[in-house]
Amino acid sequence: MSIALQTVQSSKVSFSGIVKQFPGQPGEEPVYAVNRVSLDIEPGELVTLLGPSGCGKTTTLRMLAGFETPTSGAISINGQNITHLPPNKRDVGMVFQSYALFPHMTVYDNVAYGLSIKQIPKAEMKQRVDSVLSLMHLDQMKDRLPSLLSGGQQQRVALARAVVTEPKVLLFDEPLSNLDAKLREYMRDELRKIQQRLGITSLYVTHDQSEAMAISDKVVIMNKGEIQQIGSPRDIYMKPVNKFVANFMGKANFLEAVVEQTDSRMIGLQVLGQRLTVPKDPQLEVNAHDRVDCVIRPELWKIDPQGIFEGTVERAIYLGPYVEYEIALGGQTVFVIDYDRHRYDPKKEGDAIRLGLSGDSVTLLPAGSA
Ligand code: ATP
Repeated sequence: MSIALQTVQSSKVSFSGIVKQFPGQPGEEPVYAVNRVSLDIEPGELVTLLGPSGCGKTTTLRMLAGFETPTSGAISINGQNITHLPPNKRDVGMVFQSYALFPHMTVYDNVAYGLSIKQIPKAEMKQRVDSVLSLMHLDQMKDRLPSLLSGGQQQRVALARAVVTEPKVLLFDEPLSNLDAKLREYMRDELRKIQQRLGITSLYVTHDQSEAMAISDKVVIMNKGEIQQIGSPRDIYMKPVNKFVANFMGKANFLEAVVEQTDSRMIGLQVLGQRLTVPKDPQLEVNAHDRVDCVIRPELWKIDPQGIFEGTVERAIYLGPYVEYEIALGGQTVFVIDYDRHRYDPKKEGDAIRLGLSGDSVTLLPAGSA
């Protein structure tokens, strides 16, 4: 790696109270594409915006790039307010889903383009381009046209072109969506390694939950223009703040429960006709007799002959590393994933089954919340 690339200064990005309104169709209300979004991206972090189509992720990214202007609120990089700066004054690199390479230019010229615009001297330019091409394992391909490269190679060129100018921030707009599943995983890991090695502060947009989990320091879950939750992949998966986040991050069981008693550390619950003690979440105010919803990830149930929950297998699907079960339990169907399948013979439809559940596998939400 060149000396130049090792000296990338990591930058901090802040969105504060960002609103973006677009005019609606004639006769309709305006659309709040982004609504009161506040978010800090710390130096060197990769933060992912994750959410369903239309939730406002791309608009948020485009406001940081300078392609859209917020209706209100401010965006800063290292404390400098950039809300109204044009895109070319922001020092931001971008990687698109479509690669957006110049088709008539070689790989080398594509990567050198941003440096030639900045009028970097020829010798320094060559050194920087060569070092980035080598970092991305593209040295053998520098004289080729993009049309002679695979999708994965084209995306590496796009990334090389974005990092060679040593931007303060890298933006990724669904960069892996055009690749097949296997290559997508490989490129995802490559991209994360390079981002970490260079320490470039990054904002990444995807609607793929596992991609977000695999590459992010922090994940931001959005819905209808608003942030639902910000946290590490583990926090968001294990401690979702509402049902939308729980569902978006994977499969979840939602069970109604009634609080029997509570003290400063524990909550005693009645759930599916059984007693369960769960640790108290200081964020959730509950009293005896309150109704709550329990969120339980399918793999946190334990198939256990001593388990307190007794049910009947409705469906069993053997999938190699794990078995998926649907189990009738207390008038409901619960979804169970068993990774411990070698300890017991797989159960069949109609078999009786006992399940155990540890109290700390349960996240409580106020009853009936969305
Ligand atoms: P996708 O994953 O489909 O790209 P997204 O989460 O990136 O979705 P945005 O593209 O940011 O969502 O769009 C958010 C909302 O703003 C949507 O309702 C969209 O229709 C609307 N919107 C986006 N751009 C415009 C525009 N230029 N004019 C009017 N409405 C827009």
